Amino acid sequence: MIPFIDLTRQHAALRTELLAAMAGVLDRSEFVLGGEGRVLEQELALTCGVRHAVGVASGTDALRLALAALGVGPGDEVLTPAFSFVASASTIVMAGATPVFVDIDPATYTLDVRAAERALTPRTRAIVPVHLYGHPAPMDAIVAFAGRHGLVVLEDAAQAIGATWAGRPVGNWGDAACVSFYPTKNLGACGDGGMVLTDRDDVAERVRRLRHHGDGGRYRHVELGYASRLDELQAAVLRVKWRRLGEWTERRRRLAARYGDLLRDLPLGLPVERREARHVYHLFTVRHAQRDAFAKALADLGVGTGVYYPLAVPNQPMFGGDERRFPEAWRAAREVLSLPCFAELGDEEVDTVAAAARKACEAI
Ligand SMILES: *Cc1c(COP(=O)(O)O)cnc(C)c1O
Repeated sequence: MIPFIDLTRQHAALRTELLAAMAGVLDRSEFVLGGEGRVLEQELALTCGVRHAVGVASGTDALRLALAALGVGPGDEVLTPAFSFVASASTIVMAGATPVFVDIDPATYTLDVRAAERALTPRTRAIVPVHLYGHPAPMDAIVAFAGRHGLVVLEDAAQAIGATWAGRPVGNWGDAACVSFYPTKNLGACGDGGMVLTDRDDVAERVRRLRHHGDGGRYRHVELGYASRLDELQAAVLRVKWRRLGEWTERRRRLAARYGDLLRDLPLGLPVERREARHVYHLFTVRHAQRDAFAKALADLGVGTGVYYPLAVPNQPMFGGDERRFPEAWRAAREVLSLPCFAELGDEEVDTVAAAARKACEAI
């Protein structure tokens, strides 16, 4: 059996260090908005080359609070890809604005800037590009497009910490960006967590206020806020893992290259890495016209896989369901299948998965 993902391997390897970090938090008994979180914010700001990072309770809250801090609200339309995790769009609704879906580039699964151009209206206020699977969206074109039309840019970097576009880190291009520390993400906590990254002083200050009840200091609350902090136990865990992030990313890239070599001649759509991109392979996602049969054949051969995502966002029941205006997103939802790809996966395991994929393709 080869698991799709196995977090126990990572935690077994780091067990002593993680327990020591957690014990330190217990000894200090400072659990919310303390020193670990502050240092982690500095570390993440460094990784993404931005001046500010603000820890919050999840990647979802990072998006929601960043939208609010950017002044996005009722009456505003926000462009977002039709193929992503639901939070890229649902947080726009939470902010009181309207998501306007944009179809994707079928090679990289990131939003198609020409389609974004066609979706503009006088109400368009912002754009939320998603660096899906760890491949950056074309940020130079997106920032230029946003500049021409006076839009704010919020990067959804939940799957792409450590990725770069044209040599510049994701999280560094937009007015703000969000990352997620959900346990299966490339930098995952032992629970939930997220962060807002920004170079803008006003946005950082507003997110700090919003995450803690609109706090203006000394129990003075200047606006309606939330209870959305990154806790110290998660921050301490993340600081241990942050030191490995570079090495883990390199490992994911080597696994992806190995898959690429072994799967090249199969009737599969393989991940593409654009010339400007440094892909961090949060997921190694292939396409097959008969995806469900392919997944079943792999399962029968003992290989775990995952479907991210079986529905395009506009096809989610919460967004109405029956929607055919985004053909590339719709086709991706039917064809994508992610293979095991995590830093602790062995080369021999990649070879086994690739051999199983070959058998499965022949059998279908
Ligand atoms: C995981 C994820 C989120 C939400 O992050 P959570 O920490 O799970 O709330 C948002 N957008 C994308 C693309 C994600 O993959």
